[in-house]
Amino acid sequence: MFKEIISRLKQGYRTMEFPSSEIKLPHRFQGLPEVNPGAGMGGCAEYADVCPTGAIAAPEGKPVLDLGRCIFCGKCAKLYPRVFNFSREYKMAARKREDLFLRGEAFKRAATLDEAMKRLFGRSLKLRQVSAGGCGACEADCNVLQTLSFDLGRFGIQFTASPRHADGILITGPVTQNMKLALEKTYAAVPGPKIVIAAGACAISGGIYAGHPETAGIPAEIPVDLYIPGCPPHPLTILDGLLRLLGRIE
Ligand code: SF4
Repeated sequence: MFKEIISRLKQGYRTMEFPSSEIKLPHRFQGLPEVNPGAGMGGCAEYADVCPTGAIAAPEGKPVLDLGRCIFCGKCAKLYPRVFNFSREYKMAARKREDLFLRGEAFKRAATLDEAMKRLFGRSLKLRQVSAGGCGACEADCNVLQTLSFDLGRFGIQFTASPRHADGILITGPVTQNMKLALEKTYAAVPGPKIVIAAGACAISGGIYAGHPETAGIPAEIPVDLYIPGCPPHPLTILDGLLRLLGRIE
């Protein structure tokens, strides 16, 4: 018993400070992409062709990167480093789908809920996680938020086992045809007012499954309040998005 206590004392406090300027991300981490619309404009069609998810388009001859479709494979930045670059910025959640289209302008981060919703959920938010055909990666990064490193519970945010105990749902996966009904029933079971969060490229746009007949996507009658990009999103991206939504950080 004493051995355990001594070992615990030696370990000290293991939960990271958040938000913090001291956060260390792994060297392989690829954050918010940067688009330079002024560089090498001649090859726009080629940029679009290299992207495996069709995240790059070139309307009006200028590259636009859809962060909601990007799986962060890094191919565009490798082939066209003057046009695309991956920063180390993990803060990339947005409130509106259109804010995820990157055109080389400053990224519009997620804004806080309106006052009434903030009063309800700002200090305590319970979420039901719906894995709607996900591969397990986004789900794993939601799980890891509940470990002692991140300790999501200290912010008053918890995942619940039942939608009837939840204030909203967090959706991962492309929403397969098989999961569409389950998602609709889960959403209906959450008492209003409620919030909806789409986490990961699949939930936001279908990701690599976009356009497949088995991919239904989030039904239009389920309005999304927060989009968290990534494939999967880094746990810090999820945490940052949730806290911005609740007005805990700005
Ligand atoms: S990093 Fe994103 S935008 Fe670039 S090629 Fe890969 S999926 Fe497409």
